[in-house]
Amino acid sequence: MLKFGKVSVKPGDKKKFLLPVTKTPGGQDLGFPMMIVHGTHDGPVLLVEGAIHGDEYESGEAIRAIWRDLDPAKLHGVFVGVPVVNVPAFEAGRRGSIIDGINMNRILPGRKDGFLTEQLAYHYMREVVAKCDMGVDLHGGGTVLAISPVVIYREREDKAMEQKLRDLAYATGIDLVWKGGGAWGGCMNVEGPNAGIPVITAEVGGEGRCLEEFVQAQRKLIENLMMTYKMIPGTPETPRKRINVRGSFQSCSTGGLYRTKKQLRDRVKKGEVVGTICDLFGDILEEIKAPSDGLIVSQRTFGTIHCGDWTIFVGAFADE
Ligand SMILES: [Zn+2]
Repeated sequence: MLKFGKVSVKPGDKKKFLLPVTKTPGGQDLGFPMMIVHGTHDGPVLLVEGAIHGDEYESGEAIRAIWRDLDPAKLHGVFVGVPVVNVPAFEAGRRGSIIDGINMNRILPGRKDGFLTEQLAYHYMREVVAKCDMGVDLHGGGTVLAISPVVIYREREDKAMEQKLRDLAYATGIDLVWKGGGAWGGCMNVEGPNAGIPVITAEVGGEGRCLEEFVQAQRKLIENLMMTYKMIPGTPETPRKRINVRGSFQSCSTGGLYRTKKQLRDRVKKGEVVGTICDLFGDILEEIKAPSDGLIVSQRTFGTIHCGDWTIFVGAFADE
């Protein structure tokens, strides 16, 4: 039996409820929407979370769709869905909270005596993440970016943990794999493993939308993973060829209007102009150039850009 706050979940249960951890100024409970299916057969406790960034919508829809269709009598293990981790950010339609300005996916594992977002993160790690065996942290491009389906796992000094992360990443069936450095402290895919729980990230969609094709892509990657770990029947899809990339987002050094010249997954050469920033008079202030040969993993699609904002992520081809 699992317990989340005051709610117990036992084999055969299918429940959705709010796990409250504090209150809003107006007296409403504030916490985490939980959508749980406890299978009647043994298996892993899988966390699938969305919208730790509040402007990413496809993940929650995928989680809700899977929860609706899962039958506890046929499920091995437990599906722990959290369609929106950062509710205040979701309410504002923003990446981070507008209450304290904090990006929750940079300050994990949070602080018991910190600002609102830090306290939410603190309770989330203890009351949700710690009760799971493994997890998928779902993202998208949010309001300002579009991102091609890509799965991310982090390098670890602990190679046994890294292997678990790679296995999880490959189980999603996504062909584009970004092995990131381990230095991004505060992120779920670093702090989950730091707490002993293998967690990977998958990113699909964005532009402030919730398009069905991206909802389905997120659903597919979760179902592939659940098939691989024998939680549900079926044969997972595996890509014909995996593309491993490295790199990260490039920021800009001036504000203006951003325009892209590329599509997601376009192949580019080092030094090629992939985007431009012009001023109000149409004069080009900055050209964004590909830092290496590679392909476009993600790019900004929102016009207004500030100095320091992300423009594009060119994935450099890498070994596994
Ligand atoms: Zn995100």
